[in-house]
Amino acid sequence: MSSTWHILGAGSLGSLWASRLARGGKPVQLILRDATRLMAYEAAGGLTLIEHGQPTTLAIPAQTPDTQGPIHRLLVACKAYDAEQAVAQLAPRLAFDADVILLQNGLGSQDAVANKVPHARCIFASSTEGAFRQADWQVVFAGHGFNWLGDPANPLPPDWLDDLQACGIPHQWTPDILTRLWRKLALNCAINPLTVLHDCRNGGLQAHHCEVATLCAELVELLQRCGQPQAAEHLSEEVERVIQATAANYSSMYQDVAQGRRTEIHYLLGHVCRVAARHDCSLPHLERLYRRLVEHLNARGLPSD
Ligand code: NAP
Repeated sequence: MSSTWHILGAGSLGSLWASRLARGGKPVQLILRDATRLMAYEAAGGLTLIEHGQPTTLAIPAQTPDTQGPIHRLLVACKAYDAEQAVAQLAPRLAFDADVILLQNGLGSQDAVANKVPHARCIFASSTEGAFRQADWQVVFAGHGFNWLGDPANPLPPDWLDDLQACGIPHQWTPDILTRLWRKLALNCAINPLTVLHDCRNGGLQAHHCEVATLCAELVELLQRCGQPQAAEHLSEEVERVIQATAANYSSMYQDVAQGRRTEIHYLLGHVCRVAARHDCSLPHLERLYRRLVEHLNARGLPSD
């Protein structure tokens, strides 16, 4: 079996994973959007990872989705709104024993991908690492963190976790990956949309304590209703802790909106509202927050799906 890491999307996280795996001597192939992006990448001479201000360029081989050849291991590093379509076009190349690792934030995109490739094993990831693109093919490793990986359908860990260990990619296999993803989603819903609507850093939400607490109460109700009681435990306290600890930061959604980039709202607050509707659970404050956020995005010409 091929042990090549095919990495779909050479943006921030994709480049971070690709660089560390390649640096550790693992075979890596980047899969770029199309021939134009491939030519631009080849002209740049490779991917540059900037760590502690030190750039390292690695000439990692790259290809387009229509390249021939089977894929046994695919790391999906696109945004949540691109993942389903991007993986669907690779479906014919995915081997029957393929593992597909999904790095997307939020929930909803993982199931959409899994439906497109029922013959592959889909592994969900939740990452607290931070990276951003300084320019095309140049990525800054901005925040050390951790990666939780798990398969809601199968608790057996895959053998390639050894590659992550060997390459210094901090990780842990967990059968409770959905709890992790729901908890991160709940934290996001309690903080990020309000930072956009109040036009503030995370710390600015200390002045909106009641509004945050009301959202947390509704999120706890939903998590309990949809079978995620562990993700609900002490949510309000953790949200307050995160607001304090990251008071000087702008949330990722704030930064996306400020820079005119599409947000992942559909897989964050949008997912919460859709699951609530499925469970006949009325969450008036979260639903109103979602409507206000959609209006805010539309008023700026940004998509809300
Ligand atoms: P990003 O920098 O925007 O990178 C996404 C990449 O996907 C882009 O390079 C894009 O290509 C590529 N792409 C999109 N459609 C494609 C297709 N059909 N074929 C090939 N490539 C395609 O995004 P990111 O920040 O790495 O985020 C990826 C996911 O990780 C998101 O869900 C995000 O929420 C999550 N996450 C990110 C961080 C972080 O620090 N960045 C941390 C935790 C979680 P082009 O370059 O051609 O546009």
